[in-house]
Amino acid sequence: CGIVGIVSTTPVADRIVDALKRLEYRGYDSAGLATSVDGRIDRRRAPGKLTNLRERLEAEPLDGTIGIGHTRWATHGAPTEANAHPHTTNRVAIVHNGIIENFRELKTELDKDGYKPVSETDTEIVALMVTRELDRGMAPFDAAASVIKRLEGAFALAMMFKGEDNLIVGARQGAPLAVGHGENEMILGSDAIAIAPFTNKVTYLEEGDWVAITKDDARIFDREGQPVERAMAQTQLGV
Ligand code: GLU
Repeated sequence: CGIVGIVSTTPVADRIVDALKRLEYRGYDSAGLATSVDGRIDRRRAPGKLTNLRERLEAEPLDGTIGIGHTRWATHGAPTEANAHPHTTNRVAIVHNGIIENFRELKTELDKDGYKPVSETDTEIVALMVTRELDRGMAPFDAAASVIKRLEGAFALAMMFKGEDNLIVGARQGAPLAVGHGENEMILGSDAIAIAPFTNKVTYLEEGDWVAITKDDARIFDREGQPVERAMAQTQLGV
């Protein structure tokens, strides 16, 4: 399973699928991606191999210079298109590897406020949590921060926001996530192999870190929300 996110100035859909291909060795049962154009998020998903997703994209291409992609290894809900990531609401799109252990408790809380999932995944609960914060008037960055703090379990995730075409927020806790520093673009990936086609400058997030990337920079925060510096490494993977 794997995660890729790119904020750029050039189209990202095909590049995200190529990067997901490089994560195939980790195993998966379905795949998907979302991009945003003029503040509007759209997605394509398909059960099975990445070739299925490529066929979906050929039939209905996705424009956009910002996007997130995912290969899923189902833990909650069958490997169907409806359970494939990204999970979206009218405000966010989210991809996630791992398990949100406290999702039932969060789901009950959301239910009381009228936020109901349409999939069987633990992941969609995160999308709804962030949506509730945005509905309450929080800015994307703050909404993401407040929700990430509440998540228990092992996960790596990436999210993007409606109306915000220059921001992806990622987080890691018990599952790897790395940041690639490209030319006029920033990349998130489950590992440096996924990032290698774009850049060999990589920052590995540490446990509990989360990150906000734009096409120009990456701001990293620790579990307590304090800004932190993490060293940048030069990988030897080549393109
Ligand atoms: N728990 C999530 C799901 O079942 C993510 C699984 C994964 O790691 O891909 O959808």
